[in-house]
Amino acid sequence: MSKRDYYEILGVNRNASETEIKKAYRKLAIQYHPDKNPGDKAAEEKFKELTEAYAVLSDSQKRANYDQFGHAGVNGGGFSGGGFNFGGGGFEDIFGDIFGDIFGGGSRRGSRGQRGDDLRYNLTISFEEAAFGTEKKLQLPRKQTCETCQGSGARPGTEAQTCSTCRGAGQVRYQQGFFTMTRPCPDCRGEGKIITDPCPDCRGTGQVKSKRTLNLKVPAGVENGTRLKLNNEGEAGMHGGPPGDLYVVISVEEHPIFSRDGQDIICEVPISFVQAALGCDLEVPTLEGRVNLKVPAGTQSGKIFKLSGKGIASLRGYGRGDQLVLLKVEVPTKLNSRQRELLQEFAKESGEDIHPQGKGFFDKVKELFD
Ligand SMILES: [Zn+2]
Ligand SMILES: [Zn+2]
Repeated sequence: MSKRDYYEILGVNRNASETEIKKAYRKLAIQYHPDKNPGDKAAEEKFKELTEAYAVLSDSQKRANYDQFGHAGVNGGGFSGGGFNFGGGGFEDIFGDIFGDIFGGGSRRGSRGQRGDDLRYNLTISFEEAAFGTEKKLQLPRKQTCETCQGSGARPGTEAQTCSTCRGAGQVRYQQGFFTMTRPCPDCRGEGKIITDPCPDCRGTGQVKSKRTLNLKVPAGVENGTRLKLNNEGEAGMHGGPPGDLYVVISVEEHPIFSRDGQDIICEVPISFVQAALGCDLEVPTLEGRVNLKVPAGTQSGKIFKLSGKGIASLRGYGRGDQLVLLKVEVPTKLNSRQRELLQEFAKESGEDIHPQGKGFFDKVKELFD
């Protein structure tokens, strides 16, 4: 795919001033920002393109490279097209000053608070628990904000010092060939501050390890692989940042006699060929105990009976599936001589009627080949 010219993308001419470029970008970015066009792929692409163009043209060094060498002069440098991470640190650092005032998000530059990590918890529950819902106590290993220093990492009464290497920016610039690149400051590890007198309880990290019990309500109707999101129940943020989220991923154990298809429960019930031929009253299991099923005489193997409303509740909170009872007619595998005799007699007595569907089938075979 050939890339469009960056000036063309922003709709400015090649002599445009920094202010004109910023103005053009600002106008288009508001129009195509993903927050204003949720789910619109074309707008998202356009926004990425804009962002990339602006990243280059707003940086005098990169712009000079681009003017001289075109896309080849900037790709492979600090930016590779399309590799932008929305909401990520790099993006905010460059555009925070522009978006801070447009979208009210405020620039994160200079703020040390860092959002905590999201946690994943794998929870295995039984088939019945998935069907009816359950409550579980989760033991969560969790880093929590240190109470002694309230997450600052500095001994109470002292303060972290602004890093002299990066002057608090958390990043240092360095030159590589044509390109000016940035990397996290090696002295403060990108924090912008250095703790000279660390908090004794967290050794300067601002976090302590803890265990926490969480009562989780698992709603009725969850399926294998259902992911429940619990806002703010993840790891604590660094240096007073907000906590991450907790994702509970459900695994549902297999049931010895039931299986599941969406909200329906499927249960295969074996019956004898005599029961199928003569009809019978059958006790079939459901999640709530046994129910009676009248099997009419002459029932074929594979016949499905529906027990309405005996399935699984909808996760959305309304309606309930059915239970489907699949009858499987079994043929005896061992016959004693008396049983064989009776069956042979039965066959003789029945003639072609022994096989009501077979007759039609073999008639069709005949038409096919004769
Ligand atoms: Zn502490
Ligand atoms: Zn630093």
